[in-house]
Amino acid sequence: TAKQAAAAHLRLPPLPSTRDLVKLYKLRAVKQLSQNFLMDHKLTSKIVRSSGRVRDCHVCEVGPGPGGITRSILEQGAAQLTVIEKDPRFLPTLEMLKDASKGKLDIELGDVLSFNMEKIFSSDLRQPWDGHLPKIHLIGNLPFNVATPLIIRWLKDISLKHNAWVNGRVCMTLTFQLEVAQRMVAPPGHVQRCRLSIMCQNWCHVVHKFTIPGRAFVPKPDVDVGIVHFIPRIEPQIPLDFGLVEKVIRCIFSFRQKYCKRGAGLLFPESQRDELVEKMFTVADVNPTLRPFQLALSEFNRLCHTYAAILEQQPSLEKFNSRERKIIKDDVDYDSDGNEI
Ligand code: SAM
Repeated sequence: TAKQAAAAHLRLPPLPSTRDLVKLYKLRAVKQLSQNFLMDHKLTSKIVRSSGRVRDCHVCEVGPGPGGITRSILEQGAAQLTVIEKDPRFLPTLEMLKDASKGKLDIELGDVLSFNMEKIFSSDLRQPWDGHLPKIHLIGNLPFNVATPLIIRWLKDISLKHNAWVNGRVCMTLTFQLEVAQRMVAPPGHVQRCRLSIMCQNWCHVVHKFTIPGRAFVPKPDVDVGIVHFIPRIEPQIPLDFGLVEKVIRCIFSFRQKYCKRGAGLLFPESQRDELVEKMFTVADVNPTLRPFQLALSEFNRLCHTYAAILEQQPSLEKFNSRERKIIKDDVDYDSDGNEI
């Protein structure tokens, strides 16, 4: 009923503003950690609204810092909120919100990059993968150099239905520097189309919700910030192993301005390169002289399947890593700002 709905809505008792708390606790943003705080209540509310309805949901906020977005999540009626914060300096302000939240807020001190969220959500919230979206949301304004590796990690978890995604198609709303947000949603032929576009769009529906000017943050970063919403797809466009897809896409995009067959050649040793690349593009029925950024997901899908079929015939090729390519650390390589390189 409307009365129950109103009761579920959490009105926080009068608290010092996030801005005052930051002053009170001398929570100086640590520049090396790229801490940029958002203290404008209208904007934190807008971010939370853009995630869909958080009312009655269990939300996990990553990197709450002094708690601006945290407050908006509570105000918009989340049933439960778990925050994961790495920096213990924020504990006193988060504890204050916890006291005001009447048991709705749980604080986890830890690194979101290695945090398994499986244990924080009740199994009652689970939905089948092809069913309704579960009443769970992931929200966060993280440093840019954490947000990009995190989304890649989470896409892999989505592909495996691990971590939060044991509960079904949990949606995410995250901030990125504007240019990265634009790359995530870039369609075929777009100047920003890159490896990150394919990886994001393969496993998720990706929407760039809105942009916040850098000047809204304290301290002000050099760039504007894009809010991106991800809804996991029921079926990925390329329904193959994450590692295989990542390898094919990475090789093809290694030479962005050249024909796409040039990068695809990096999948094979030189002795077999010309023969196998020709086979790959002929069987996949893809024009090998398109540039990587012109290819549609359906074309990447056929190329990945053809590559998988070649591996079945010649399993030793799976281990082949061309030395021509840039050196790859971990799964993906980034510059210090978290930009893909
Ligand atoms: N969400 C707050 C806001 O919008 O004002 C703070 C934003 S600040 C850009 C990023 C926050 O993420 C900081 O509080 C920082 O300590 C935290 N953080 C950075 N790396 C993290 C990690 N690996 N795991 C958890 N929190 C992290």
